[in-house]
Amino acid sequence: MSRIVHVDGAFLPEEAARVSVFDRGFLFADAVYEVTSVLGGRLVDFAGHARRLARSLAELAMTNPHPEAGWLTLHREMVARNGLADGLVYLQVTRGNPGDRNFAYPPAEVAPTVVMFTQAIPELAFPPAAASGWKVIAIPDRRWGRRDIKTVQLLYSSMGKMMARAAGADDAWLVEDGMVTEGTSNNAWIVTGGRIVTRPTGEAILHGITRAAVLRLAREAQLAVEERPFTLAEARAADEAFATSASAFVMPVVAIDGVAVGRGTPGPLTRRLRELYLEEMRKAAI
Ligand code: PMP
Repeated sequence: MSRIVHVDGAFLPEEAARVSVFDRGFLFADAVYEVTSVLGGRLVDFAGHARRLARSLAELAMTNPHPEAGWLTLHREMVARNGLADGLVYLQVTRGNPGDRNFAYPPAEVAPTVVMFTQAIPELAFPPAAASGWKVIAIPDRRWGRRDIKTVQLLYSSMGKMMARAAGADDAWLVEDGMVTEGTSNNAWIVTGGRIVTRPTGEAILHGITRAAVLRLAREAQLAVEERPFTLAEARAADEAFATSASAFVMPVVAIDGVAVGRGTPGPLTRRLRELYLEEMRKAAI
């Protein structure tokens, strides 16, 4: 069955959806996106995603086409029209179609393009990888300098995934000045000396919505948390490691560059945080 996708106010079968070749999302990656997970037909941490979307758009001086309530209605409509139980809602806003190619931004009257689609993932909450953990490789972080803006400029992240695959791994952790920034599409964490460590927000990483929720839940559970950069060497020697994202939730990382992290199996704190996150997010989903 074909999906119903959303383009600029219309709900269409995916085969019928069209975006102009002059759209700036296509020509300049002049676009931002969000991915919100859906569990049991309800949106996980929607408010966090809506707020980050507003921030990404503001950082790029792009008009936000909808208030948060409007985005919520659209997300719910997408879930309902596609009968989505477990999976993801993807949304993208581009600076629109000025009718020609030009590096300068178009005048404000050019409307942004909005595209949304769903991805059904029945095993979203219980993927086999959650039990086995991810193997990651370390690669240099060669992305641009404003990783806090969630743009669709994801080529280096794709390259990183392919480098990981070529090395028989599941993902790559990006390293800059000896410090781990984040994964190709997730935030990076370690557990060392009984403390949970993740890099502070700033321009070097995406401000993960899952990251923020896990930090809050860990603190509420009285776990010791430190927001500070960590080196690749520290990660390799850590007791546990994991990655967070809206689609992987809390994903154990069991090896870095072929070297086992801890015992080489998902660690106890990682497993606890995954359970805690899923339990709390299911409760709070809307
Ligand atoms: N970092 C990067 C580079 C990402 O692409 C993502 C996911 N889009 C994340 C972190 C995790 O963010 P979130 O928890 O909001 O999915």
